[in-house]
Amino acid sequence: MRKLIIAGNWKLNKTSAEAANLATELKREVSDVMDVDVVICPVFTALSVVQDVVMESNVKLGAQNIYWEDAGAFTGEVSGPLLKDLGVEYVIIGHSERRQFFGETNATVNKRIRAALNHNLTPIVCVGELLEEREAGKAFDVIQTQCTESLAGFSSEEVQKMIIAYEPVWAIGTGKTASPEQAQEVHKFIRDQIMKLHSEDMAQTVRIQYGGSVKPENTAELMSQPDIDGALVGGASLKSEAFAAIIKNCCTVNK
Ligand code: PEP
Repeated sequence: MRKLIIAGNWKLNKTSAEAANLATELKREVSDVMDVDVVICPVFTALSVVQDVVMESNVKLGAQNIYWEDAGAFTGEVSGPLLKDLGVEYVIIGHSERRQFFGETNATVNKRIRAALNHNLTPIVCVGELLEEREAGKAFDVIQTQCTESLAGFSSEEVQKMIIAYEPVWAIGTGKTASPEQAQEVHKFIRDQIMKLHSEDMAQTVRIQYGGSVKPENTAELMSQPDIDGALVGGASLKSEAFAAIIKNCCTVNK
């Protein structure tokens, strides 16, 4: 049985004071939730204040990116040792906004995953097709390439430590959610890819999140799908009430 994991991607939002307030409210609202892993991913500049708030609680800290070198002449980057130093446990890698606006590729995603694992950070590895790719019937080809290239060279034990996030790009921030059936079909496909690269038993242990306009009203139906093991949430994670409702709605799901 895979434990559900809900992660909030705060993207480029919130000053340190706003981030601390949001984390404080969320911590209070979900303090009794034990059956779901909860992660929040603020901007780099707010990681430290948010860690002060969530330390020793059931809310865990994530970052939104990691560079593959530990230190050196890499202006503007943030590395594994620096994230660990702040108490970070998770890191989002290969988000579609990184791919779209910052030239992220499967090859760089692969290097970032390696860096995360080297520093005992749990990578949340994002994959997902564009609308035109889905409409052209290429969604599965795109996902297969993303999985194969991003996860190339990792052992079964390493892949088991990762979280995969399926985020159809057409559903991110658009209010359009993949139907539970559409999402389940791709999640099953991703699990099958992992199975082919590793083994059936191992693939059954990997958690695969869905992301794309998740809100309190659609959470339970999505999470009740057999291969959906949580959510990566953008917009709705910026309001403590909505994000807490998503987390609590997961607790009602029977698989
Ligand atoms: C995301 O940024 O990963 C995301 C899924 O955003 P939203 O929930 O706003 O669609």
